[in-house]
Amino acid sequence: MTARTKFTKPFTQQEPIPAAAIDRAIEVMQSGRLHRYNLAEGDSNEASELEREYAEWQGADYCVACTSGGYAIQLALRACGVEPGDRILANAYTLAPVPGAIHNVGGVPVLVDIDSSYHIDMHDLEAKANASGARYLLLSHMRGHIADMDRLMEICDRLHICLIEDCAHTMGAKWRDRKSGNFGKAAAFSTQTYKHMNSGEGGFLTTNDPVVAARAVVSSGSYMLYGRHGAIPAEDVFQDVRLYAPNYSGRMDHLRAVLLRAQLPALKDSVARWNVLYDRLAARLGGMAGVVIPQRRQEEFYVGSSIQFRAEKLERDQIPLLMAACAARGVELKWFGDDEPKAFTSRYDSWKYIDDIPHLPGTLRVLEKTLDMRVPLTFDVEDCDLIADIIEQEIGDLIAA
Ligand SMILES: *Cc1c(COP(=O)(O)O)cnc(C)c1O
Repeated sequence: MTARTKFTKPFTQQEPIPAAAIDRAIEVMQSGRLHRYNLAEGDSNEASELEREYAEWQGADYCVACTSGGYAIQLALRACGVEPGDRILANAYTLAPVPGAIHNVGGVPVLVDIDSSYHIDMHDLEAKANASGARYLLLSHMRGHIADMDRLMEICDRLHICLIEDCAHTMGAKWRDRKSGNFGKAAAFSTQTYKHMNSGEGGFLTTNDPVVAARAVVSSGSYMLYGRHGAIPAEDVFQDVRLYAPNYSGRMDHLRAVLLRAQLPALKDSVARWNVLYDRLAARLGGMAGVVIPQRRQEEFYVGSSIQFRAEKLERDQIPLLMAACAARGVELKWFGDDEPKAFTSRYDSWKYIDDIPHLPGTLRVLEKTLDMRVPLTFDVEDCDLIADIIEQEIGDLIAA
């Protein structure tokens, strides 16, 4: 590498949709039958097949495909019984659709601090649960960092807290051989372009609870056609909920389902490829002076679709300089400590619609120097090395300055 070598691949480039899916998508478009309940005699029910296949992959009894990950969270909260005014615990290090979903169902977010490894802080969780009386926890496995789920489940069980998991970054991840999403009452996944499968927009709700599943299917806007879904409970469960679950239209269509059905069989392989890239970056960044990579516990099987690191040796006001220097060389970093929300990244204290935003010293301290980088599958290991070289050089220059 010469002194000012540039990295030229875009950080926002996904892999193409598999060719077979494109062919199938064209057939669906030619049929004109895009709506999931619009089926001619003998048509393959793509949305329903996708639900069946995703439920099987996830190891969950029931699955509902819907329009986005944020929508799946709202649906999960409602189907689990959240009513307006209910308090909902949520780790403060997350993405804006999480507090947005709570707000949308009329819930009151109770933000919980994080620890230095980006996990929910268990002490603060207990304290806030006791102080607020909240009976729900919406846990974001933010950027794929999975908290100690043994301890978390013990707290939830003891305090009678209903857990809902936001698995936008943990599709395919596990804690002790149990898939992320299979711990709580319900889980939400996103298939938005930057997640682990890509349908542009889309999401799933999974659960093993028949009543939650039936409510979610009916509320996703199934009219009285819920029988055409792929992974649902028995008819008698629907008889009890069908007239009581309002229609909050948010169905997935056949076209997106086709794109996802083609990607699902390759997901395991994608996860392995992500982790090769992540592990290379983590080894390189973790070996740099003044850089801290979050600890991963042995029980955690992560999916390294993004990486976070802290530039501890830099002053806070040097972080924007580092970002600018890296950006000038083609390396796109995001900063979770910025006072101003930018693009996808915002800090919890910018969600001003929340009343009484708490002061969360752990979150502020950890995010102050946290940089975040996407790891698209269009990169290879040599790309990771060049990116690491650039970051190392620019941090080194700033430390020396
Ligand atoms: C992307 C994301 C979501 C929601 O996904 P959308 O499909 O964009 O609505 C939820 N939580 C987290 C942590 C996310 O990153």
